[in-house]
Amino acid sequence: MRRVLILGGTAEARALAAELADVPSVHVVSSLAGRVTNPRLPVGDVRAGGFGGPDGLATWLAAERIDAMVDATHPFAARMTASAAEVSARTGVPLLVLRRPGWPQGPADTWQRVDSLQAAATRLAESAGPVRVFLTTGRRSLPVFTGLAGVWLLARSVDPPEPPVPPHVHVLLDRGPYTVEGELALIREHRLDVLVTKDSGGRLTAAKLVAARELGLPVIMVDRPPLPTGVRLVETVNAAALWAQG
Ligand code: NAP
Repeated sequence: MRRVLILGGTAEARALAAELADVPSVHVVSSLAGRVTNPRLPVGDVRAGGFGGPDGLATWLAAERIDAMVDATHPFAARMTASAAEVSARTGVPLLVLRRPGWPQGPADTWQRVDSLQAAATRLAESAGPVRVFLTTGRRSLPVFTGLAGVWLLARSVDPPEPPVPPHVHVLLDRGPYTVEGELALIREHRLDVLVTKDSGGRLTAAKLVAARELGLPVIMVDRPPLPTGVRLVETVNAAALWAQG
């Protein structure tokens, strides 16, 4: 029996666990960070919570006799990916990174690409006049944006941000998938001027970009953090499932 750890928290990780559940020669344990109050759970065995850095992960892999790891975490979960890459190099447990592709920019899109949340905040601070922002970068990123003069925020997240939330921030608790109609209605209702998002990729949350394109809304797109050098990368669940079977 080949024992495979899936580092999860994404739709792709759940799809991979489901695909491998039908493979008799593979036993999967999925791992979640344990931050979301009511997470969508993969099929099969699940553990939750950080490992305690690379040392903790290495200890856990040995105790659970794990033969291979698939890092199917979110493209912005850079610490977990760095930890998995370090432990793989140190212990020899093979690692595959499964990352959905980023969103492609079309000719009708008005995107400014930036390399960090802080750079996105700087772009907003440079805007002439007050600006109403559709912010979808996650609840933990909210403090980066709340101190900007003249910036009103519609901050959408799965779980509520840490209080206190300032009065110029409207929090919308929601979880994809979203529809283009819904996103158009939201942008119009709140008279939003600009969308700030991370280049997460995937279909579940892409509707906001279609709506922005239709309405001519500019987008500040935060680029993904780079992957650790030398990691093996695939973009589809099928490719990851084949690799996981050895
Ligand atoms: P991160 O910054 O890379 O992770 C911070 C720490 O959380 C890691 O060092 C690790 O703790 C623990 N951790 C992260 N993912 C884990 C996993 N799958 N299993 C066990 N421990 C994990 O990651 P993040 O951005 O906070 O994301 C946390 C989780 O949410 C990830 O599983 C990710 O797939 C999911 N998620 C993230 C985003 C996003 O925008 N970042 C969006 C959707 C879903 P130790 O060092 O103690 O092992």
